[in-house]
Amino acid sequence: MTTDIASVSLPDGERIPKLGQGTWEMGEHPARRAAELAALRCGIDLGMTLIDTAEMYGDGATESLVGEALVGLRDQVFLVSKVYPHNASRQGVVAACEQSLKRLKTDWLDLYLLHWRGSVPLAETVEAFETLRSAGKIRHWGVSNFDTDDMEELVATPGGKACATNQILYNVARRGSEFDLLPWLAARKMPAMAYSPVDHARLPKRSPLNDIADARGVSVFQVALAWVLQKPGVFAIPKAGRIEHVRDNHRASQLQLDVRELAAIDTYFTPPRSKRPLEML
Ligand code: NAP
Repeated sequence: MTTDIASVSLPDGERIPKLGQGTWEMGEHPARRAAELAALRCGIDLGMTLIDTAEMYGDGATESLVGEALVGLRDQVFLVSKVYPHNASRQGVVAACEQSLKRLKTDWLDLYLLHWRGSVPLAETVEAFETLRSAGKIRHWGVSNFDTDDMEELVATPGGKACATNQILYNVARRGSEFDLLPWLAARKMPAMAYSPVDHARLPKRSPLNDIADARGVSVFQVALAWVLQKPGVFAIPKAGRIEHVRDNHRASQLQLDVRELAAIDTYFTPPRSKRPLEML
């Protein structure tokens, strides 16, 4: 396994890879299964050893695929899953986690996230996460799709300061969080986990990304991913169901955009000048 992927620190100092792998929409089509398993294993071999999944994905089918991909490799991976908001009650979180562990064929999750905020009081969800942590079923917990006001409320909740990360939509075309949420997280040494780092393959057809990609002999996806990975305190989880995309994403982690390229990107994908509500997919 190569280890040329940079790392970021969780608030407790544990280092995790800056580049991981997403899994949304994997495990849903039998015809793609072999390619998806090969892609995930190739990524692990290349050092992209953080894998993100969720009970929601494919109604559990994605977690089952990940469990299969990890046979014999579990100890090498930092495994992340997410609980539905409607399962986020004191007993619901524990029951949902048990089901995820079964599908993932493992005894523990490295990180367990609340997928988005629902109607269950945050204090109840935090208490359930801490119960799981004490039982050794999860090592860290965090949230997803929380805007700055949600984060404020979370850290004011008993036990809420133990949150390890906030998984948010962040890429070159979705920069609203740069105004207040990313600085808020950075001030608390809490890394942001960037989902859809290549905007779910919906990047504009023509933008400065194309010029940079042409000049560098790489793809626009690689430029977009390199841009996210260059942000301090941010780690990213692109999903790639094909080995060639996994290899490209790994190569993107070695790409350093220069000041001129970053400025060209800013002229087209302008940074926010005022608060924008957090977008989600
Ligand atoms: P994404 O990673 O931005 O984009 C995935 C798409 O881009 C796929 O169609 C993939 O194609 C393609 N792709 C990836 N790398 C490529 C490359 N180098 N060249 C060309 N195409 C490439 O979008 P995402 O799946 O929405 O987000 C990533 C992960 O974040 C998800 O899988 C999931 O784990 C997580 N997520 C979380 C939330 C949340 O609410 N917390 C929401 C969305 C996503 P192939 O698959 O064909 O290779």
